[in-house]
Amino acid sequence: MTTFHADANSGQPGFRFAPSPTGTLHIGHAYSALLNQKLARESGGRLLLRIEDTDTTRCRPEFEQAILEDLDWLGIRFDAPPLRQSDHFPTYAKAADMLRGKGLLYPCFASRSQINEAVSGIEASGREWPRDPDGSPHYPGIWRGAAKEEVERRIAAGEPHAWRIDMARAMQGLSESRLAFEEYPDETATQTVTRFRDPSVWGDFIIVRKDSPASFHLAGVIDEALQGITDVVRGQDLAQATGLHRVLQHHLGLKPPRYHHHGLIAGEDGEKLSKSRGSLGLSALREAGHTARDIKARLGFSD
Ligand code: GLU
Repeated sequence: MTTFHADANSGQPGFRFAPSPTGTLHIGHAYSALLNQKLARESGGRLLLRIEDTDTTRCRPEFEQAILEDLDWLGIRFDAPPLRQSDHFPTYAKAADMLRGKGLLYPCFASRSQINEAVSGIEASGREWPRDPDGSPHYPGIWRGAAKEEVERRIAAGEPHAWRIDMARAMQGLSESRLAFEEYPDETATQTVTRFRDPSVWGDFIIVRKDSPASFHLAGVIDEALQGITDVVRGQDLAQATGLHRVLQHHLGLKPPRYHHHGLIAGEDGEKLSKSRGSLGLSALREAGHTARDIKARLGFSD
């Protein structure tokens, strides 16, 4: 029983570009969008746009507008109107309920400084504490297994809280093969390989944020299903997140798409590009007189 499948699954391949409107697009986003467009065309698939605006504190409508304009300028055409995640919060809430019903989420009232303090305390005692792939310390379990009455009292009093996955519980009895997925090993591969990425590297990660009824991770896996996405083509920086997405898909009864984590375009200094545009922002390149054709050629795409 799940309510998260696309209404009409056409059997046609589905690709998507999924920017977050927390800034404007740079040349790395252009590469990702163009690669999705190329692969969709080659396979006779659909290309869809998803605006990932679950982070209500950082997303801004003017960034969304600028993203739409940049994509249009690049010549990227989508096969349906964009899905805006902020229009689907009740759906993500339903998914969170399903996970709660399975006892896989618990509320966490801790502030960032309380978490940091707890981690410092552990490390001060000489114990090494794990970091997640983004470099943040694993949640030190402050609210895991908390007394039910205390939790209910705080929720009833309206105290802000996030919902975290109880990773040990979510992984209980799951063999690697249950969480395996198909992945294209590189840009030119025509065959997938079967991979497993351990979700435990994320610890008890936040699945429902304090300030939003979802998280990027929860909303994304639901939307791959709702939009009928068969192929997730995105940057290498999200490769590890796929392990977390797989465990969510498993518990939500969702079939995993194929994945393709492409290489990232580095900045002039060799560093990862950030949303802070700079000279490799699409609007800066456009203002400097570059055409969409120049950008495509530079990134290895023909018109
Ligand atoms: N919204 C994410 C970003 O802008 C991409 C998510 C994805 O492709 O899965 O970095």
